[in-house]
Amino acid sequence: MRPKYVVGNWKLNGSLPGNESLLRAILKEVSPQPGRHLAVCVPAPYLAQVRGLLEGTPVAWGGQDVSRFEKGAYTGDVSGAMLREFGATFAIVGHSERRTLFGDTDEAVAQKYAAARKAGLVPIFCVGETLAEREKGVTESVLARQLDAVLEVSGAAALDGGLVAYEPVWAIGTGRTATSAQAQEAHAFLRGRVAKKDAGVASRLPILYGGSVKGSNAAELFAMPDVDGGLIGGASLVAEDFLAIWRAAVA
Ligand code: PEP
Repeated sequence: MRPKYVVGNWKLNGSLPGNESLLRAILKEVSPQPGRHLAVCVPAPYLAQVRGLLEGTPVAWGGQDVSRFEKGAYTGDVSGAMLREFGATFAIVGHSERRTLFGDTDEAVAQKYAAARKAGLVPIFCVGETLAEREKGVTESVLARQLDAVLEVSGAAALDGGLVAYEPVWAIGTGRTATSAQAQEAHAFLRGRVAKKDAGVASRLPILYGGSVKGSNAAELFAMPDVDGGLIGGASLVAEDFLAIWRAAVA
């Protein structure tokens, strides 16, 4: 059985007092659960605070992006080694907001994936189609193109130790969740494509679903055979909402 993950993506949200009360409320309920992992991916300036609050607890933390470069003249970037210095386990790469608002190409995402792995981070590699692409019937070719970029640069073996997140762009922050059948279909497609390169890696690969996951739909999504948890945006900012999703993952 594959482990299940619930990972919060705080995006551009947070404040020192707000982070502390959110994490303290989460920690009140969370206990270590075999085969279950809980984490939050936070804005880089909060890594030190979050490390102080979470070190030694069952909640891990990570960054929301990572530079494809190791060091040098890359103003604004944060390297994988820097994230590791602050105890980060995870780094999100290829989130659709980075792709659409900040110009991350498939190639850049693949380089970020490789940089995260090289730094010893667990990349959370996001893929997903837009609404127009789904309506055109090209969902699978979009997912294949995004996945293949990483497979080409890093190889299937590099997916061992990473996570994939299927995040249909039309479901992110919209309140419109993919049905469990739609999620399962996309996850099975992604797993099958990795299996063509390496069946063992594919069978071990956790594939999370992201896109308007809530306490009310998490259990049904997480019950799908190829859905190994969730990447959670909005609901990760409210302790009770995030905990409701965590409960669905440990049930
Ligand atoms: C996300 O940002 O990765 C996400 C899935 O957001 P939301 O849960 O708010 O749709």
